[in-house]
Amino acid sequence: MKEFDLIELIRRECAHARDDVRVGIGDDGAVLTTRDGHDLVVATDTLVSGVHFPASTTPYDIGWKALAVNLSDLAAMGAEPAWATLALTLPTPDPAWVAAFAGGFAALARPHGVALVGGDTTLGPLTITVTVHGFVPRGAALLRSGARVGDLVCVTGELGDAAAALEHFDVAALRERLDRPVPRVRAGIALRGRASAAIDVSDGLLADLGRLCAASGVGARLDEAPPMSGALLQACTAAVALVHAWTGGDDYELCFTLPPESLVEVRGLPDKGVPIATLGRIVATPGVRVVDSRGNDVTPARRGYEHFA
Ligand code: ADP
Ligand code: MG
Repeated sequence: MKEFDLIELIRRECAHARDDVRVGIGDDGAVLTTRDGHDLVVATDTLVSGVHFPASTTPYDIGWKALAVNLSDLAAMGAEPAWATLALTLPTPDPAWVAAFAGGFAALARPHGVALVGGDTTLGPLTITVTVHGFVPRGAALLRSGARVGDLVCVTGELGDAAAALEHFDVAALRERLDRPVPRVRAGIALRGRASAAIDVSDGLLADLGRLCAASGVGARLDEAPPMSGALLQACTAAVALVHAWTGGDDYELCFTLPPESLVEVRGLPDKGVPIATLGRIVATPGVRVVDSRGNDVTPARRGYEHFA
């Protein structure tokens, strides 16, 4: 199939109508209307086959995940998604593959009102780069740098499933979390003006919280285990499950900090059915430490995924 026909296939599926898209796919660039009184938040993530998803992942799930990991970055900024671009490198111009990929992308784009407004299509090893754009009221973006000593460390949802799926390919409930992560967009928006700092958990909770702490010039002392799913606890021993929950990548939950007096209010706010758990506190001493009920240090040696390790 020709490049033009592949692009047309993607356009039909993913070019959601929005008033602020003056020119979308089809010209040399997209022409987009920005919003008065708002900041534009932009994020990019690349997925490489065999690195960011197993080579056996279906094209539908790859399309879903390529957008999901990007929307997760907008969620961590408290931004409302608007537009996306897609740079697609394909080993073969297979229309069935591209149609399924676009189907997965559109299945997540539609409920979030995201319009695909441009991209590029090339031949080469399977690699997908998505850029997303979203809005926050001026000055209201959630940053990594706002955590203060005494804040609670919180997390949405359950952790560790995606990492466990890499060892238990056949457990559908775990595989679902790896292949179709659900970005916490509504939770992120609800946390604006309430959370003091936020980050999404893509490389592992301890690793990502470590980045938040470093950006804020603080540390964290964690004394409660992260919430874990029934599927995780059934597939792994308690000790292995806990290591996945602390350090496993690909969860795409939000980790955030909060003045303690805001917890009750925040628990009532975000996505229905997305629980919020507290894990510990922000402290002045740099670094992230996990302690047991007796105060002994039980921090796992490995903290998360590191591409250039
Ligand atoms: P150019 O030569 O200007 O780079 P292309 O032929 O690469 O144009 O793309 C034609 C149009 O299709 C452009 O509007 C571009 O943004 C869009 N496009 C190309 N590939 C994709 C893709 N994978 N997803 C969405 N839009 C795409
Ligand atoms: Mg091009």
